[in-house]
Amino acid sequence: MKVVKFGGSSLASGKQMEKVYQIVISDLERKIVVVSAPGKRFTNDEKVTDLLIKCAEAALQNHTIKEKVDAVIERYAFIAEELSLTDTVIEEIRDDLMERLQADKEKPDRFMDRVKASGEDNQAKLTAAYFRKQGLEAHYVDPLEAGLLVSDEPGNAQVLPEAYENLHLLRYRSGILIFPGFFGYSKEGEVFTFSRSGSDITGSILANAVKADIYENFTDVDAVYSVNPNIVNKPREIKELTYREMRELSYAGFTVLHDEALVPAFRAGIPVQIKNTNNPAAPGTRIVNERHNTNGPVIGIASDKGFCSIYVSKYLMNREVGFGRKLLGVLEDFGLSYEHTPSGIDDISVIMRENQLNASLEEKIIHRIKTELQADEVKVEHSLALIMVVGEGMRHNVGTMARASKALARNSVNIEMINQGSSEVSMMFGVKEVDEKRAVQALYEEFFVPVTV
Ligand code: ASP
Repeated sequence: MKVVKFGGSSLASGKQMEKVYQIVISDLERKIVVVSAPGKRFTNDEKVTDLLIKCAEAALQNHTIKEKVDAVIERYAFIAEELSLTDTVIEEIRDDLMERLQADKEKPDRFMDRVKASGEDNQAKLTAAYFRKQGLEAHYVDPLEAGLLVSDEPGNAQVLPEAYENLHLLRYRSGILIFPGFFGYSKEGEVFTFSRSGSDITGSILANAVKADIYENFTDVDAVYSVNPNIVNKPREIKELTYREMRELSYAGFTVLHDEALVPAFRAGIPVQIKNTNNPAAPGTRIVNERHNTNGPVIGIASDKGFCSIYVSKYLMNREVGFGRKLLGVLEDFGLSYEHTPSGIDDISVIMRENQLNASLEEKIIHRIKTELQADEVKVEHSLALIMVVGEGMRHNVGTMARASKALARNSVNIEMINQGSSEVSMMFGVKEVDEKRAVQALYEEFFVPVTV
């Protein structure tokens, strides 16, 4: 049995939905179909989820919502028309959305989640209606009734362990099951969504719950590339990679799959296959537990901007019991999360996402570290990019770090920091944002472009 998930661009028009239908019926094992809300049809188009957020914001501010609601409905009507579905489907979607928008606004975050979730919920109903019209036994599944229980954290729900047992029963239902992605219900029966792009998570949870043989994730690229195609022209495709490699790559900018989505599939040892709705014959990329290292030390290079580093130095730091805890405690007091902490004998850097800080917060943090920890020097460095060089093969290959740093030096990229060791499958380089592109190109050249003599 296969669980198949289709992303927003695969469902954005009737033409796309026809491809989805063909993919589903071409393999009888594709039993559970998870859908996103309609995504972009062209570059400057808007995702239905973004339109819904605007509807909810307007409603919360008591502004008129008519135009915004129409914009959402128009998107479903566009699909329905191309598929010659009846107007009743669209009327039902409008009624559902209006009901959500007129509901209790006492808790704005929860109100927002209810409205956002309608994108997937209504898309699932529309998909089931279309499949039935084609003569297929297809059923919409309500996540409430199926028991997809999640924590009550708006916009960041986490699946509850009980959900798996409930959802396991989907295995025994008849027909093709169309399941809306992106949200579940709390034990009190309220809607909560996962973080953005969370339909990937729903697919993975279902694959785990029904013990699927594979979780197929259909998107709009042929494969996961070894490096961002906007930085390197026509980079090599990755045929197979491990969960750990994918996790490291998606952490630093590989957005093909939501980084939380790997966990449920990984726990059940279910392979994830990334495929292209627009080119289903392409083999895609398979994410597995273990793979044969035939590709050399590095499988992919990812990079992401928007980091800063708080550098702290204090003579004899290494001997001071509790220094690290106190330093991180300051950040915790301000509710900040950190990413990495490369350290030396008398110094430590705390790397974090820059968007968590502002000038006044930064000042307060520096002040507390200086006074409470009696640090000799504290400085914040902005606009850093992190580059992750990833590959299981690195463990068995000598000299990978030397090759990487030489390649950077050759291209005059100054390395601000290096973090290697804790993770056996990656090396991290911190560079100035302005050097990011050049650094990634240099590393790609080193590890992926064969030397011609
Ligand atoms: N529609 C939601 C979003 O745009 C979830 C998803 O597409 O996976 O974030």
